Amino acid sequence: MEKTMLTGDRPTGKLHVGHYVGSLRRRVELQESGGFDDIFIMIADAQALTDNADNPEKVRQNIIEVALDYLACGLDPEKSTLFIQSQVPELCELSFYYMNLVTVSRLQRNPTVKSEIQMRNFEASIPVGFFTYPISQAADITAFKATTVPVGEDQLPMLEQTKEIVRKFNSVYGDTLVEPEILLPDNQACMRLPGTDGKAKMSKSLNNCIYLSEEPEEIKQKVFSMFTDPTHIRIEDPGKLEGNTVFTYLDAFCRPEYFPEFLPDYTDLEELKAHYKRGGLGDMKVKRFLNAVLQAELEPIRKRRKEYQKDIPYVYEILRKGSEKAEKRAAETLQDVKAAMKINYF
Ligand code: ATP
Ligand code: MG
Repeated sequence: MEKTMLTGDRPTGKLHVGHYVGSLRRRVELQESGGFDDIFIMIADAQALTDNADNPEKVRQNIIEVALDYLACGLDPEKSTLFIQSQVPELCELSFYYMNLVTVSRLQRNPTVKSEIQMRNFEASIPVGFFTYPISQAADITAFKATTVPVGEDQLPMLEQTKEIVRKFNSVYGDTLVEPEILLPDNQACMRLPGTDGKAKMSKSLNNCIYLSEEPEEIKQKVFSMFTDPTHIRIEDPGKLEGNTVFTYLDAFCRPEYFPEFLPDYTDLEELKAHYKRGGLGDMKVKRFLNAVLQAELEPIRKRRKEYQKDIPYVYEILRKGSEKAEKRAAETLQDVKAAMKINYF
């Protein structure tokens, strides 16, 4: 069977290191592995409008920011199709037919939608478009017959919903759509990276992010003001790792080579953690190490981003070509769908 990857991001802000460890880094690895027949990466502007209808300019401007972040991280337009959701109208048509296969109560039970409604204070007046975005997300995934969707943990309920739609469609109209598999990060810290405030997940909407384009001095400031273990007061005190944001970030970002490079008196992260738990290791030393790790990870990304930023028309051209290719593929699926439903009358 063909292997196709689809994933994407909402253009509601620049991408942050939560996106990077939750999905972006994996996409680039999979792209380089050569294991896929096709890779589609979508900038979900239409979905972003479902809760930003009054601010289309924000969405418009962030399309280019997200595209720059993609290219900076190593997504390669020769190997991956980068496209803009709204430029593929077939996705709306698919959503329209899928809406008949989902109940209102099923959407109300979707835990991600529930918590997002709360976060946005939508309780009293939920826009219909926002409420139904899991259906439109099912259209995005199935339009490309995606087999693999690498995303963070918050997307699990979305993938479940998509699978249900696929099963329902196939059982009513005959085998047409492909059931996708979610690909979660293999490391717990990356599933839902907390914000620099240590509380909720890092999210553009919560102002607790380290952005991929962040300058070195800002990264350092954010790392140095992070939460550790509040009971770890003197260096000699034993420290806790649970809920310690600095160690969560090390779990997400540290590579073995960073030890000989930045902290040669330890062999690996396990040894560093053991010392912290025992006592005798100060927070500042761990923060300095995390800062060095993040600077090493983000410097090449920031540099590449600045290069692409010099030629914005070229970036738009990549998105135009990608959107054309994506539309062709979605149109094929729409034909299959209409044929299965027997609504291809002429
Ligand atoms: P918004 O606040 O507009 O919803 P967001 O920061 O939640 O923005 P999305 O565009 O909704 O970002 O998510 C894009 C992808 O990044 C998804 O696959 C999601 O699972 C992943 N992701 C987002 N934030 C995190 C995080 N903190 N940790 C791990 N993965 C994340
Ligand atoms: Mg989100």
